[in-house]
Amino acid sequence: MISATQSNHPLAGHSSPEATEAAVTEARRRIRAGGLRITRPRLALIASLHRHEGPVSIERIHLDVGAEACDLVTVYRSLAAFEGIGLVRRSYLHNGTCLYELTLNAQQRYHIVCKTCGATERVDYVPIEGPERLLAARGYTQVSHVVEFFGVCPQCQTAAAARRVAPALPRERV
Ligand SMILES: [Zn+2]
Repeated sequence: MISATQSNHPLAGHSSPEATEAAVTEARRRIRAGGLRITRPRLALIASLHRHEGPVSIERIHLDVGAEACDLVTVYRSLAAFEGIGLVRRSYLHNGTCLYELTLNAQQRYHIVCKTCGATERVDYVPIEGPERLLAARGYTQVSHVVEFFGVCPQCQTAAAARRVAPALPRERV
């Protein structure tokens, strides 16, 4: 029998409604512990961040939660407040755009961002926790790190190659 919970939704693979619900519950606990107010727009932002999984732009989050649920200024302020309590992590694209992601996962995830189309993909293994442990052993507390990968994705390379080839075709001749 086919499971009724199967879905063709593009985001269904890595974040079921139950997983998002659990993330929102945990975020709610951290927001309260961080001394911030829990509001409906803030919980909607958390749910959006969780569904995207990887780093996502403010504009994309705003689009996701809907303009009527939350204005852009509220999105900015909420994400800044979340960053202040360590609930989200901020990274930058090479063009200066900010991206945000939740820090709820125990294991920090890394991503590669395409410099051409901005698509992000997860990088599964980066041996970076070693240096953090080393620094902790040297007596540092609250040690954190930022690792960013940038490249040009295979799709963008294919598209660029096609553009280079196209003008050379002799079909322009009469
Ligand atoms: Zn690309």
